[in-house]
Amino acid sequence: MSEGILLIISGPSGVGKGTVCRYLISMREDLKLSVSTTTRAPRPTEREGMEYYFTTLPGFKEMIEQGSFLEWAVVHGDYYGTGLKEAQNSLASGEDLILEIDVQGAVQVMEKLPEAISIFLAPPSLEALEERILGRGTESTENINGRLATARQEMDSYYLYDYIVVNDQVDNAAELISAIIDAEKCRVSRGARPPGWGGESK
Ligand code: ADP
Ligand code: 5GP
Repeated sequence: MSEGILLIISGPSGVGKGTVCRYLISMREDLKLSVSTTTRAPRPTEREGMEYYFTTLPGFKEMIEQGSFLEWAVVHGDYYGTGLKEAQNSLASGEDLILEIDVQGAVQVMEKLPEAISIFLAPPSLEALEERILGRGTESTENINGRLATARQEMDSYYLYDYIVVNDQVDNAAELISAIIDAEKCRVSRGARPPGWGGESK
């Protein structure tokens, strides 16, 4: 069985990562979204094990010491991390896994797993990004200002990624990402072979 593809979808807070990932998952049954662990308090609609695994700061720090994370980062004052075992098991069983993570975490995964495909989701403009963060209505004013300041810095990291996708319309962005996944699956260096061809390359 061939290993699954690890897809990093990253970009500034409020750009629409969660929205685009949900759309993408509804389009393609072959994709699984990794569930991160966080110390952030759950939002009213969030459920344990669905959007996140919620934990305490001491609990998170213990997981860091135990080497439980593929990557972790402090984002807007809260800790977020991707479970190492969950990612390893998923890829080994041939599943294609999406990590929806911030720029700091994306860089850690790129360094550890260069075969991961990284996509920077960009807003059509900084004004559109601000409108989306305000429109979501989930943050305090102080938190919004922090997220906007970080977002401007995060935009400068685009060049570290394999691909940039602009989230102008959710369906357009998801379809572009889906096309990138299809193209990556055709890569000979990733193990793509002509039908019935099991042998070594010549
Ligand atoms: P992130 O996960 O990157 O923090 P979200 O997915 O929570 O961002 O999206 C932030 C807000 O922007 C949400 O209110 C969402 O409905 C909205 N949004 C996402 N994508 C678009 C888009 N293409 N056009 C307009 N609004 C969008
Ligand atoms: P939110 O609190 O809005 O759900 O997420 C805040 C930020 O944390 C988003 O940019 C999101 O992509 C990022 N994030 C979520 N999970 C992880 C993770 O496991 N690792 C890292 N590094 N960032 C994450």
